Amino acid sequence: MKNITVLGTGVLGSQIAFQTAFHGFDVVAYDIDQAALDRASDRFAGLAQRYEADAVAGGAEGGPRAAISRIRLTHDLADAVASADLVIEAVPENLELKQDIYRRIGEAAPSSTVFATNSSTLLPSALAESTARPDRFLALHFANEIWAHNTAEVMGTPATDETVYARVVEFARQIGMVPIEIKKEKAGYLLNSLLVPFLQAAGELLVDGIAEPEAIDATWRIGTSAPKGPFEIYDIVGLTTAYNISRMGDEKQQAFADLLKERYIDQGKLGVATGEGFYTYPRQA
Ligand code: NAD
Repeated sequence: MKNITVLGTGVLGSQIAFQTAFHGFDVVAYDIDQAALDRASDRFAGLAQRYEADAVAGGAEGGPRAAISRIRLTHDLADAVASADLVIEAVPENLELKQDIYRRIGEAAPSSTVFATNSSTLLPSALAESTARPDRFLALHFANEIWAHNTAEVMGTPATDETVYARVVEFARQIGMVPIEIKKEKAGYLLNSLLVPFLQAAGELLVDGIAEPEAIDATWRIGTSAPKGPFEIYDIVGLTTAYNISRMGDEKQQAFADLLKERYIDQGKLGVATGEGFYTYPRQA
């Protein structure tokens, strides 16, 4: 796979495009209009600075600055996919929107092109039929801050061709990811299948008045040598996201959502991003 196209240049799409170009691939980055592409240019410039500051290793010659020159921007969808070997889709998390874009690229891309979705919550089988090439379609799921949190969860559908799956695993490795092979479709992949119940259990301990966040976090850190406890993780994820997930849950989870809203979100305390959540940032030593 040589020519890579990324659809959507938001939080994750810009990171995927940049990481891929950083590792020497030619990348086409697509977004809906010129204004979105202008924002993408700003994101790429910011990522180049971040890669330099973090001294991200393993890139192709020229480092982060040269990566930008390997990314071509376009808002013409047919042009974006015309010579792609692999299309990675990172458009908003909306089933109809994604199905629509797969129908359009299914017609516009060469029949050999492989499609991969970065969707966090939709199973790839919900999108496979729209692609008109279910054997050449799978999920390739990255984590935010991809250069540091470099897992790439690879999850096919029952229709995904094994050779296609293996090629995508190899591509993930080539762009500096640790490919995580998932053998069956699973909502939440591996990371969220582990993380969500863990965070929910912590929320319940708080709602039930069993202990305060500091005590719960300290127990987890000291007891398992993990670097962070659940409420420190909540602050990183962002309390709005935590609220949106919790309010869809059972009675206990809804009570936790109410607590998040009243004590934190309504006060503008959204976590690390706003400087305060369960903790105040930067943290006192
Ligand atoms: P985002 O809102 O930051 O970016 C979405 C981008 O898609 C925007 O640039 C927007 O202009 C563009 N877009 C809107 N409509 C479009 C269309 N019809 N066609 C093409 N592009 C369109 O979203 P995000 O956080 O980058 O999430 C994108 C995908 O990545 C989602 O499926 C999400 O589940 C997944 N994801 C997100 C994260 C995360 O931490 N943000 C992590 C892993 C996976």
